[in-house]
Amino acid sequence: MSVFEHREFRGHERVVFGHDPDTGLRAIIAVHSTRLGPSLGGCRVFPYPDDGAALTDVLRLSRGMTYKSAMAGLPLGGGKAVVIADPHRDKTPSLMRALGRLVEDLNGLYITAEDSGTDVDDLRTIAGVTGHVVGIADKRDADGVVRSGDPSPATARGVFVGIRASVRAALGDDDLTGIRVAIQGVGNVGHHLAAMLHDAGARLWISDIDEAARRHAVSAFDAEPVDTAAIHAAPVDVFAPCAMGAVLNATTIPALQARVVAGSANNQLAEDGDGERLRERGILYAPDYVINAGGVIDVADEYAGYDALRVRRRVDAIADTLTEIYERAAREGRATSTIADHIAEERLAAARP
Ligand code: NAD
Repeated sequence: MSVFEHREFRGHERVVFGHDPDTGLRAIIAVHSTRLGPSLGGCRVFPYPDDGAALTDVLRLSRGMTYKSAMAGLPLGGGKAVVIADPHRDKTPSLMRALGRLVEDLNGLYITAEDSGTDVDDLRTIAGVTGHVVGIADKRDADGVVRSGDPSPATARGVFVGIRASVRAALGDDDLTGIRVAIQGVGNVGHHLAAMLHDAGARLWISDIDEAARRHAVSAFDAEPVDTAAIHAAPVDVFAPCAMGAVLNATTIPALQARVVAGSANNQLAEDGDGERLRERGILYAPDYVINAGGVIDVADEYAGYDALRVRRRVDAIADTLTEIYERAAREGRATSTIADHIAEERLAAARP
């Protein structure tokens, strides 16, 4: 298994392999870039089939965090941690503490947070051994609601304002009354998003492999239930992928009926060329790492002393960033995903010492 020749290696600053014989911890932390600030990104616990799969994931995800934070205007770089373990079977407080010690060894170069397979309790355990962790504090948001460190409501708000900006760009009006939206996955983010869209007068089509989650959302938001295999082809204006990655691909793109794709899922494009495929079909794509940055904006703010109004302002600014991307993409006749990458790279280049 090579690292420097790995197809996902893109000049990562650090790739640290950690093993703790007492707890069985096998983890990799990748720091892609600290050009804009200390690297921040979640810790994923997943039963990877082998080390190679874990390395691929951490290299890709850490780079994605660099782009996400750059586009969100945060003074942060990109990093990520992966633990090779089954979160339901192998995750113990001592395993999380062992990971925390590995984070602590990096001396602030990497700040960890929640990701799939970890929750607020795990982060609190990690915080027992390192201060370089965010997403643990109970906080009062800009509406005065006290909530846990879970970033999902902030992510959902970013996606909501992003959908409004995308609808304005594609359909000429940002009034969501009567706008038809298909949501794929009503978990933490998708459910919050459905509530906001419903309140704004949108009509919803909903799918989830978790039948109970789907039923609950369908009845709460008076939505149309859709089969999981058919949600991308629903007769809607907006398709919002809020479940898993690679959902936009050579098979699904030709079947889309939506004029806009805007959702929270990470890595929605199966391949780079899929951004261009969407453009050719006249579908406006909200680049995933731009529209789903609400969560990182929310947790990152804890590091500086949480300020709910600053978070709200930054999350709402996702709409402006998307509008800038759409205008430039239209001007240059290029895919929105390509433009987002370019803007992020320009910001990184401008910060070069
Ligand atoms: P979650 O696990 O709470 O919810 C995902 C939901 O999708 C679940 O209800 C699951 O049953 C459903 N699902 C899985 N496969 C599906 C399929 N094939 N079809 C339909 N539904 C399916 O996760 P989440 O925290 O809501 O995150 C959703 C997505 O957004 C993920 O891709 C995540 O990486 C991304 N994201 C989340 C945040 C955040 O703050 N939570 C931030 C940025 C990005």
